[in-house]
Amino acid sequence: MRFDTVIRNGTVVTATDTYASDVGIDGGRITAIAQSLPVENAGKVIDATGLLVMPGGIDVHTHLDMPFGGTTSADDFESGTIAAAFGGTTTLIDFAIQTKGHSLRQAFDTWMKKADRKAAIDYAFHCIITDLGAAQLEEMGALIGEGVSSFKLFMAYPGVLMVDDATIFRAMSQAAKFGGLICMHAENGGAIDVIVQKALAEGKKSPKYHALTRPTTAEGEATSRSIALAEMAGAPVYIVHLSCNDALEKVREARDRGLPAYAETCPQYLYLSLENMDAPGFEGAKYVFTPPLREKWHQEKLWQGLAHDTLQVVSTDHCPFCFKEQKELGRDDFTKIPNGGPGIEHRLSLVYTGGVHGGRFSPNRFVQLVATAPAKLFGLFPRKGTIAIGSDADLVIFDPNREQTISAATHHMRVDYSMFEGIRVKGVPKTVLSHGRPVIENGIFVGKPGSGEFVRRSPYAGI
Ligand SMILES: [Zn+2]
Repeated sequence: MRFDTVIRNGTVVTATDTYASDVGIDGGRITAIAQSLPVENAGKVIDATGLLVMPGGIDVHTHLDMPFGGTTSADDFESGTIAAAFGGTTTLIDFAIQTKGHSLRQAFDTWMKKADRKAAIDYAFHCIITDLGAAQLEEMGALIGEGVSSFKLFMAYPGVLMVDDATIFRAMSQAAKFGGLICMHAENGGAIDVIVQKALAEGKKSPKYHALTRPTTAEGEATSRSIALAEMAGAPVYIVHLSCNDALEKVREARDRGLPAYAETCPQYLYLSLENMDAPGFEGAKYVFTPPLREKWHQEKLWQGLAHDTLQVVSTDHCPFCFKEQKELGRDDFTKIPNGGPGIEHRLSLVYTGGVHGGRFSPNRFVQLVATAPAKLFGLFPRKGTIAIGSDADLVIFDPNREQTISAATHHMRVDYSMFEGIRVKGVPKTVLSHGRPVIENGIFVGKPGSGEFVRRSPYAGI
């Protein structure tokens, strides 16, 4: 037996198993898993004594190089994928946004160009639909066939991204027919807009009003409505960035009835709350994203949701805008603050810290939430999201006991602040492999921009 790389003496952790084993890699894939593998002929030997060997993280919600409100998110596909790799993520799914009146293919082509020769890890795309005529409806089937097997629709941002219920229903029906999965931004945008206009008229323009004008009821209502539309269409539905208990209860009810309703949350909703928006001066703008931060008590509900499978996935909704010059666009009016926060780099560490060290769930559940469930829901499994013979050798060698303090001074995202500044995490990736090649080695980037590949995803096949 000959291997390009052998990872020795580690503890393999998958969504279902934990065992001491060596892992052999050849031609970018896992070719052997055994208690002891021969290393004499191995090109490279990585010692993982005392460390966990886990499937690489899959972040299914990022916005790299994305135009928003007259500016562009601060990380492109180079800096964003490098930061992701530092955090143990080896595949991301970004969003290609359809411009009204144009084809879905145009969106896909545009985003393929953005990633080309830049990405340091593998990537795929969901397509955001803003305008669904007969032609685009037809395109959905074609795109699913080409590996773009999920679509995102907005129930918020009227006049910009929001679509009506008829459009959502049509898209879901088409997705059901061709094996697509619809991702929903679930907030009642119409009602929110009225509340926002009233706040502005009353002179309430500071960053905190971004949160105060988007009630949890608006998210609960839209979550419920999207699940009902999916039920009528006979389609699965995936709620993105679920932030509050109101929405969580709607997902739980649907799942209790046996519906294929799924949802993700993000680390910001697990670690931050409305209190962060009381930061002095304009600092609250650092936490302006949608849905907004909620009262603190929602956090524990979301952690419970992750432990009990009401929530299946943790993604980041990474959408970084610098505080200087970007967030500042809304200094006099919160509606002009670019919506989004940076998070692509710290997902695994934050979830491991609060979930596993916090005593809420096992390392196996952790792997399920950050890698296996995302891979299964979005057509990447078993190529990615697990450690098995024949799977891509996208691996994280993780030190579960190493501690680190998150800070903008040391992070690798191209943004001038951290949402999680000063938070101490326990559990940090040490070495990260993509297709068997080191991208991060002992905490240093050794990969190459452009080495990441576009991944064609399979149609939706459940979890
Ligand atoms: Zn998003």
